[in-house]
Amino acid sequence: MKNNYDVLIIGGGFAGATTAWHLANHGLKVLLIDSKPWNRIGDKPCGDAVSKEHFDNLGMPYPEGEQLEQKIEGIKLYSPDMKTEWIVKGEGFEINAPAYTQRLLKEASNRGVEVLDMTTAMKPIFEDGFVKGAILFDRRHNQQIEVRAKVVVEATGYSMSFRSKLPQGLPVTENLDDKDADIAYREVAYTKDDIDEPQYLKIFVNQKASPGGYWWYFPKGKNKVNIGLGIQGGMGYPSIYTFYDKYLNEFGSDVDRNRLIVKGGALVPTRRPISTLAWNGILVVGDSAFTANPVHGGGKGSAMISGYCAAKAILNAFEVGDFSAKTLWSANLCYIERYGAKQASLELFRRFLQKLSDDDINYGMRKKVIKEEDLLEASAKGDLQLSVAEKAMRIIAGLGRPSLLLKLKVVAEYMKKAKDLYREYPSDPNNLEQWKSEVNKLLLDFENLMNK
Ligand SMILES: Cc1cc2nc3c(=O)[nH]c(=O)nc-3n(C[C@H](O)[C@H](O)[C@H](O)COP(=O)(O)OP(=O)(O)OC[C@H]3O[C@@H](n4cnc5c(N)ncnc54)[C@H](O)[C@@H]3O)c2cc1C
Repeated sequence: MKNNYDVLIIGGGFAGATTAWHLANHGLKVLLIDSKPWNRIGDKPCGDAVSKEHFDNLGMPYPEGEQLEQKIEGIKLYSPDMKTEWIVKGEGFEINAPAYTQRLLKEASNRGVEVLDMTTAMKPIFEDGFVKGAILFDRRHNQQIEVRAKVVVEATGYSMSFRSKLPQGLPVTENLDDKDADIAYREVAYTKDDIDEPQYLKIFVNQKASPGGYWWYFPKGKNKVNIGLGIQGGMGYPSIYTFYDKYLNEFGSDVDRNRLIVKGGALVPTRRPISTLAWNGILVVGDSAFTANPVHGGGKGSAMISGYCAAKAILNAFEVGDFSAKTLWSANLCYIERYGAKQASLELFRRFLQKLSDDDINYGMRKKVIKEEDLLEASAKGDLQLSVAEKAMRIIAGLGRPSLLLKLKVVAEYMKKAKDLYREYPSDPNNLEQWKSEVNKLLLDFENLMNK
């Protein structure tokens, strides 16, 4: 390890590894550090399902060999009473996350990126309004070292362990409300019998068994499964383990807990992205930048998008020789266009869904108030077509749940408003505060309407 780099990436999960992968081979001196020992990098509690489109859109390699545990053809979604099953087609991968992450890091390292495990960023170096590097602790050699870099990439996941130590008030120190996160827990275990259709992920929506979230059953081949649940944070619900133990038999009766492979829980942000990924000398990516999908909590694909956008912004900054927020700002424009605007609209959809009762969901799925295609459209683009809501209004008004439908119409309108507002994202840092206040107002108006 040297004392000076062009880029210091803190964290080697999906976000950090993707940033490094896209920065490699461009003549920059890049250091990536992670607190974990090499063989555990990429190992974190996760459902491990990633849509194929992310790899295609970013020109990244598909998982293969030991990195790929199951090819996915779609998702089966079950209503709380289990009477309705929707099949949403779509290709993806159930991955071995440590193996895939380490592959990216190895490829980056072969192309010149220095990767150091067991090394933790303890605190930022912050001078003249710029992030200038970090004080690191290298556990292998038991030594502290000061590393300076033109750009630091914060990719520390949900811990936000680097940016949280920056002077509060900087836009990149934005925190999140507990209610804008899910507490999630999963186990990976062998199954007692062969799994029928391992190419389908199963999702069980059930407010009783997973309030504000859902249960999943994601096959990892024919006889292994990743099973778990998420519940909304900040609501004072009992511990996630209580839910797991109580309902496991309902959603995973074939799971053989005597042959458990791994277990663990963590938090997932479920909101719009942080208001800016960029500030002077710093870019924030992945869970630390709240990039996960607000509705399903999948965050690996969008962590990759943010890493890609960060790498592009860094390459541009080195071309012009300026590392201020103004130049690194292009990461925001890239991310919002590719994912962030959709995330903002899906945050509203998530807030609506979390307020529904199991009865509402049973009814909505049975009557196809929103259809599979609409759900697919909403999750792919963040658009809930007004026409869908209006059509549903007409059908359902006669059938007895007008309040639900009226709300759905408001949701669709506000989802569109949110996307429009994100399309007007400021082109430089000067107008950020004004724009943020407009976003906050939109959220407040929406919340008031939902609580009526
Ligand atoms: C139970 C659960 C299920 C999920 N299921 C899915 C799913 O099926 N599909 C999906 O796409 N997403 C899923 N997610 C979300 C997904 O796991 C995350 O969005 C994604 O892994 C975030 O990647 P990241 O690189 O931002 O963070 P992380 O993977 O958390 O990586 C952060 C890295 O930073 C390192 N680090 C932290 N602080 C420091 C420091 N100070 N110095 C050095 N290193 C540091 C850590 O060791 C870690 O390796 C799930 C999440 C949970 C909790």
